[in-house]
Amino acid sequence: MSAPPYKLASRAFCPHGTVIQLGRVRIGGDEVVLMAGPCSIEGEAMIHQIAAMVAEQGGTVLRGGAFKPRTSPYSFQGLGERGLKYLRDAADEHGLLAVTEVMEIGQLELVAKYADILQIGARNMQNYPLLREAGRADVPVLLKRGLCATIEEFLLAAEYIMAEGNRRVMLCERGIRTFADHSRFTLDIAAIPVLKERTHLPVLVDPSHCMGVRDKVLPMALAAIAAGADGLIVETHPKPEQALSDGPQALLPQQLAQLSERLEQVAVAVGRTFTKSPVEVTSP
Ligand code: PEP
Ligand code: MN
Repeated sequence: MSAPPYKLASRAFCPHGTVIQLGRVRIGGDEVVLMAGPCSIEGEAMIHQIAAMVAEQGGTVLRGGAFKPRTSPYSFQGLGERGLKYLRDAADEHGLLAVTEVMEIGQLELVAKYADILQIGARNMQNYPLLREAGRADVPVLLKRGLCATIEEFLLAAEYIMAEGNRRVMLCERGIRTFADHSRFTLDIAAIPVLKERTHLPVLVDPSHCMGVRDKVLPMALAAIAAGADGLIVETHPKPEQALSDGPQALLPQQLAQLSERLEQVAVAVGRTFTKSPVEVTSP
């Protein structure tokens, strides 16, 4: 078999697999990681409430968008820097890390000031100038798979970041466009073992954006862990009917609790771990 066109991202470059350590959180280790939060940060109180829910269920990373890539220009576009501040405070108060999307080069410095992990969204997976700039940042990157990207294109996108010096990249399968119309996108479960074979980078799965409806998120989340994913990034909201974006796919608080419980069982069944019991937060 000929050598793949990606080098730094290839399994051969680091046969034992990369673990990204951020404080007490290890992404790519034996323990599967739960990242959760709203689609968009909508206000201060709501992100604090959700951070408490996430921490209580064993989540270690709080997600939430302040700059949103919306299909319609008339939809809510995010709170910008104000949202980043709320996210940072809520994460700190509950002992969580924060992941949030950066959409353009001009936002990168600002987002990096508040986030522990920079998210590059599916629509920007092939925004090569943005990938290069993220490669110069000293912050780990969560790179989502493009809507129509092959595995090779996905890994070459990661290679753009790594080639600039940033080796802390995690990949996220979030569903691709297919002929199927029974889900919002088609979660490519097959991509998980294939990525695990081809790259040493941690592989996460987003079961929310692919399904589009909350009742279908749990089975896909569990399937992803069973197939070898290193963690999940899911959307949750205490009042999804009032959410300013992606309400229909947001897990209700009790569904997040159920996910956390089942996640522990499935993780153990496949030789991994997940600690549901919340870690004590000691105030500084
Ligand atoms: C998101 O995670 O908020 C998001 C917009 O995801 P994606 O880029 O996968 O559509
Ligand atoms: Mn969303």
